[in-house]
Amino acid sequence: MSSAVSAPALARTREQLATGLTRLRGGPRRLGLVPTMGALHEGHLSLVDRSLELCDATAVSIFVNPLQFGAGEDLASYPRDLEGDVRRLGERGVDLVFAPSDAEVMYPAGEPSVRVDPGPMGEGLCGRFRPGHFQGVLTVVAKLFGMIRPDVAMFGRKDLQQSVLVRRMVEDLELGVEIVTTPVIREVDGLAMSSRNAYLSRAERREASGLFQALLAARASFADGEVSAEALIRTFTAVIDRHERLSLQYVELVEPDGLTPADPPTPDTVMAAAVFCGETRLIDNVVLGGAAPSGSVRPSDASVAPGPTEGR
Ligand code: AMP
Repeated sequence: MSSAVSAPALARTREQLATGLTRLRGGPRRLGLVPTMGALHEGHLSLVDRSLELCDATAVSIFVNPLQFGAGEDLASYPRDLEGDVRRLGERGVDLVFAPSDAEVMYPAGEPSVRVDPGPMGEGLCGRFRPGHFQGVLTVVAKLFGMIRPDVAMFGRKDLQQSVLVRRMVEDLELGVEIVTTPVIREVDGLAMSSRNAYLSRAERREASGLFQALLAARASFADGEVSAEALIRTFTAVIDRHERLSLQYVELVEPDGLTPADPPTPDTVMAAAVFCGETRLIDNVVLGGAAPSGSVRPSDASVAPGPTEGR
């Protein structure tokens, strides 16, 4: 990289965060926040780019939040690359990286006893298989909003249920943060980018895009006039079943704002699914309606066209 790239301020303590924020707030400026768990890829960086477009200053948080991991999940082995992340964010032009040096910086009094209850929208989809996960997510997001006081925060559509729940939390609790949801960024074979893709073996990686292919098959069937939710789900599972290393955890057709079951489905309906590829859990979703997807899958792809709550 050229020497013109300047490093963002790196805050690892509350004091450094406060100093960094005060500097950033040197006037009536719009502050954008991109909350992440690090090991950054182009999916995360698309959120950063959106924030840079929309805001005068951009902060990125990097924190592998213990509250959102269940027993037996991958908290200890979750990929971490702070140095690489800070470099990438500097190249992009981010102003502040908040990467708490340890969990005590976030939770000085120990794990919080008061937490945010996701309510019924946290019960289906991933919530059914990851009890406590969304409570942990919403609690840390609410804390980050309190600590950083952003005007705008970016969330990826890849984590559909998370983005919907954060939006609902902000509305229900009047948190005064504008939530922007951005499309799924994919590898060229359609696999949704994820820090956890690093866990995949070569053989698994070859099969991992089967999840997206299965979603596309259901989408194509809907475009051909199939409106039975059951039939669309059968089309999806038939593709998953053809992949030896993929096993289905769930697939659901939901209405995009409230995550309620969509039967019969409409063009706005989202098909959301989780599969295991070997030991690695993959999630993805597509909107059923809209124009046909193109071969190389980028954010402009119609399969990830902004839903009614996106792009605000
Ligand atoms: P994570 O580090 O996995 O917690 O993700 C941080 C943010 O990046 C979340 O809002 C995710 O939805 C978003 N994100 C992760 N992967 C992607 C992707 N492939 N495309 C778009 N956004 C993503």
